[in-house]
Amino acid sequence: MNEQTTPATDTTIGSALTHVRAQIAAAATNAGRDPASVTLVAVSKFHPREAVETALAAGQRVFGENRVQEAAAKFPALRQRYPDLKLHLIGGLQTNKAREAVRLADVIESLDRPALSDALARAADQEGHLPDLLIEVNTGDEPQKFGIPREKADAFIRDCQTRFGARLRGLMCIPPAGEDPAPHFRFLHSLADEHSLPVRSMGMSADFPLAIAEGATLVRVGTAIFGTRPPG
Ligand SMILES: *Cc1c(COP(=O)(O)O)cnc(C)c1O
Repeated sequence: MNEQTTPATDTTIGSALTHVRAQIAAAATNAGRDPASVTLVAVSKFHPREAVETALAAGQRVFGENRVQEAAAKFPALRQRYPDLKLHLIGGLQTNKAREAVRLADVIESLDRPALSDALARAADQEGHLPDLLIEVNTGDEPQKFGIPREKADAFIRDCQTRFGARLRGLMCIPPAGEDPAPHFRFLHSLADEHSLPVRSMGMSADFPLAIAEGATLVRVGTAIFGTRPPG
């Protein structure tokens, strides 16, 4: 791949954040929703800690990372200076990383299989606390993707509610690339409602206004804030 990367400068990160926040507010207002009902998760994966610091200086407090190791390298030091910083882990999670994930994250958005729910429960016992959890649903039933398949989602959600109680906050999805994401967002919204789960994490740089129209309460936006990702 010879993709051009455009590392964002301080000014562009700040103005991109302003622009994304305005788009979130407009999409919410258009949908008859309170803009405060949508939380922006700034996805900083593959970008250096300095980019996160610039976003923090611009008032952003909620961040998303895909990899436990990268999150561990970037975030603990920043937390000392910004105690209200919140870190979401949004990438596929190996069971052997569960304990470190529990140590690092405020929210784990990628709970997607019983083996991982076992590992997280064990890690919570060891660490004495548990982050909030979202179940990732593979709404397109794509074989190569993370996420619980559609037909297993109901039972898995119920099991996790029994096990984790209100720590299970909601659902997350990443619709198939190149497909209209709206039906996937709608499906995730109704599935969350059926299980009385308040959080719906859906929408990325390309489609977050649409996701908000379909009921997103968390949008995960990387490229539109930090620019094109350097190769990871
Ligand atoms: C990278 C990533 C995002 C952000 O994607 P952009 O298109 O850069 O906004 C959102 N969610 C997940 C799970 C990701 O891995």
